[in-house]
Amino acid sequence: MDTHRLRNLHRPDILRERLEREGLPRTTLSFYRYVRLSEVEELRNALYLEWEALGVLGRIYISQEGINAQVSIPSADLEAFRTALDARDAFANVPWKIAVEDDGKSFLKLMVKVKKKIVADGLADDAFDVTDVGEHLDAATFNQKLEEGAVVVDMRNNYECLIGHFEGAYLPKADTFRGAIEEVLVQLEGKQNEPVLMYCTGGIRCEKASAYLRHHGFTQVGQLHGGIIDYARQLKAEGLPSKYKGQNFVFDERLAERITEDVVSTCMQCGGPCDRITNCHEVTCNMLLVQCPDCAAKYADCCSPSCREVHVLPEEVQRIWRKGRSTRSTKTKAINDPEALRQRIHDEEAILASKGTLHPELIGSKAFPPRQMTEISPSHPSGPEISGRNH
Ligand SMILES: [Zn+2]
Ligand SMILES: [Zn+2]
Repeated sequence: MDTHRLRNLHRPDILRERLEREGLPRTTLSFYRYVRLSEVEELRNALYLEWEALGVLGRIYISQEGINAQVSIPSADLEAFRTALDARDAFANVPWKIAVEDDGKSFLKLMVKVKKKIVADGLADDAFDVTDVGEHLDAATFNQKLEEGAVVVDMRNNYECLIGHFEGAYLPKADTFRGAIEEVLVQLEGKQNEPVLMYCTGGIRCEKASAYLRHHGFTQVGQLHGGIIDYARQLKAEGLPSKYKGQNFVFDERLAERITEDVVSTCMQCGGPCDRITNCHEVTCNMLLVQCPDCAAKYADCCSPSCREVHVLPEEVQRIWRKGRSTRSTKTKAINDPEALRQRIHDEEAILASKGTLHPELIGSKAFPPRQMTEISPSHPSGPEISGRNH
């Protein structure tokens, strides 16, 4: 088969225009399933052809362990899409979740990608059977089991647990799935015959984690079906009390969506109650942190005086400074020792007060002539005056 054509070849602006012109109401939905798939390349090509004909757009990952799909479909073709899924044994009756907020423009193209795993777990292939999962629990049952005293484990990374979690949950310190799952195994040692509850953002990670625990002899594993996202939806629909407190970390521009008004975390800079999560705006740093509005103003949306000093420079000067420095990818690392951060801020402010800069490498450099330096650097200990926030 000529497979070259089985992908999008158009530029984003053309795709956007095409979507505008189409003008069809679309529905955005997501689904996943751990299921053994074989001949994955052939399957990928077949799905592409089949779904392209139905006007499906979106991002689909398939691997030998299953499928993870987020798609947008002309609403008139929903039925046909369901039929196409059900016609394949591997995907028959796969439950899908329809996005609540939907402008129909969530995806511009169809991408079906073959991956090694649908959830990168860092574990050896065939270390365990990913399809041997725990019991799926709805919000009401999950609440009830919590009340009965079940052990509850958060299967997200450390930075996702910061601003919200279930009451009494074990929150892993690791910042990778692999690290978290190994840590949980150690924490739960001896509880093989007790009820264990797991949860994550959308359900896909704790589903895999539940299979891993079962592989290690845990007999009563249950996971929150549809994750925190669907838990919140069920609470609203059924008027249930929330045992999840605070905000849910999400992987889009918003970073978080509020589930309850509880504030479960503190500002990493001043220590006051706060659950506003943000990235350090110095782009090579980009660390996630919890930062209150007062500290955001004081540190110019940065994690430290050192980042602030760079961030408030003219854009072209920043660009030269960044040359040859690597930029930390977004949403993957958080400050995990607020105490150390506060000490660092304290030390940096002291240096700033005595030396006028935390970046002596800039002084006299081409990018940053001394004259400019004195205009920007502070001569008083409280740091540069930052007027308002820059976004
Ligand atoms: Zn603060
Ligand atoms: Zn920073």
